[in-house]
Amino acid sequence: MNVLVINAGSSSLKYQLYDMTTENVLAKGRVERIGMESSILSHEVDHQPEVREVSEILDHTTAIKKVLDMLTHRDFGVLRSMHDIQAVGHRVVHGGESFSESVLIDQNVKLEIRKLFDLAPLHNPAHMMGITAVEANLQHVPQAVVFDTAFHQTMPPQSYLYAIPTVLYRKHQIRRYGFHGTSHDYVSKRAAEFLERPLKDLKLITCHIGNGASCAAILHGKSFDTSMGMTPLEGLMMGTRSGDLDPAIVPYTLNKEDLTLNEVNSMLNKHSGLLAISGISSDMREVVEAMQEGNEHAKLAFEMYAYRIRKYIGAYVAAMDGTDAIIFTAGVGENSDVLRKEVCKSLTYLGVHIDEARNAVRSSDTRRITTDESKVSVLVVPTNEELLIARDTYRLVLERQTKETTSE
Ligand code: ADP
Repeated sequence: MNVLVINAGSSSLKYQLYDMTTENVLAKGRVERIGMESSILSHEVDHQPEVREVSEILDHTTAIKKVLDMLTHRDFGVLRSMHDIQAVGHRVVHGGESFSESVLIDQNVKLEIRKLFDLAPLHNPAHMMGITAVEANLQHVPQAVVFDTAFHQTMPPQSYLYAIPTVLYRKHQIRRYGFHGTSHDYVSKRAAEFLERPLKDLKLITCHIGNGASCAAILHGKSFDTSMGMTPLEGLMMGTRSGDLDPAIVPYTLNKEDLTLNEVNSMLNKHSGLLAISGISSDMREVVEAMQEGNEHAKLAFEMYAYRIRKYIGAYVAAMDGTDAIIFTAGVGENSDVLRKEVCKSLTYLGVHIDEARNAVRSSDTRRITTDESKVSVLVVPTNEELLIARDTYRLVLERQTKETTSE
């Protein structure tokens, strides 16, 4: 079965086509600048140079049509016709409390996703455009949705409630949801495989450190707590997001500065984090480079960033009464040995001993970066959210097919 995975943003759309018998990626790409002049479709098939096509793509329906044309293209395509796509899986950021697992799309599911627009105004409407666009182009193909929040629905109330009047939770569902769930789920399963231990016996701390960043406490295979909250702003210091701060700073800033609430919101989401403290960049590579050249602001930004991760690790060790392994993943977590070393440098009380040579290895494989004697393992596990979306979609479609044949 071929499964097309779609991650639709408001002006962009990423895709990967999987052959689920081998789990190989047949082709992948992205459409950028949807709705603008000179939209760009970049398409990649294994071992071949990337193909770029510039045209006018005014909406998501046209974008999907262009993707399908490319996938079936005589020279650059990998399919004979679009009937060779048997299912489509979508990434959806917010599933609220309605979704604790991936589901096949029907009218009710679409209605629920629409109801959640308020909770994720930048993301969910864009995902819905992706779903509608696929429906318009591939009428009879089953579609599934995989939510970033679903994995964290196992959190107990002590983790997900904020200590504010509960009427706000009851009326407006103000609570911690957590994000990057697909990634935390995927890397925790991979870690258990790597450690050759059942997931249900493990206490894991997963650190998804990319542009956005979050830690999760995964107790016996289930999310017990996570650092992102009702929105992806809470928790760790990120590329451009502040992470945790005293909420009183918001009204205080409004009082002291000539800013609107929207501008303060934008400051916290887009002009804070690594970028604000380093004054250089939101990209960890550039911050590390500047630090190594002696820039003091970059050094402070780097140390603050690592310190926040270390604090969350400490909190989750306490929350779970210990940990078996700490897992680093995503752009920074997978690639920055200096960051990993800085985070782990004072975790010796836990029994974490980093092996410098192992930490320095560059690889796209899951690997251990602690010494063989280290009581707690630290692993680097490359994340693969698209593969998990493809797997969930494949499983859901097969389950439905089995149900249909047994009821006939
Ligand atoms: P997103 O949250 O957008 O999915 P990614 O997980 O792809 O982000 O991470 C992107 C970030 O990874 C970049 O902003 C960059 O800071 C960081 N990154 C990538 N390679 C390296 C590297 N070699 N060293 C440090 N940081 C890196």
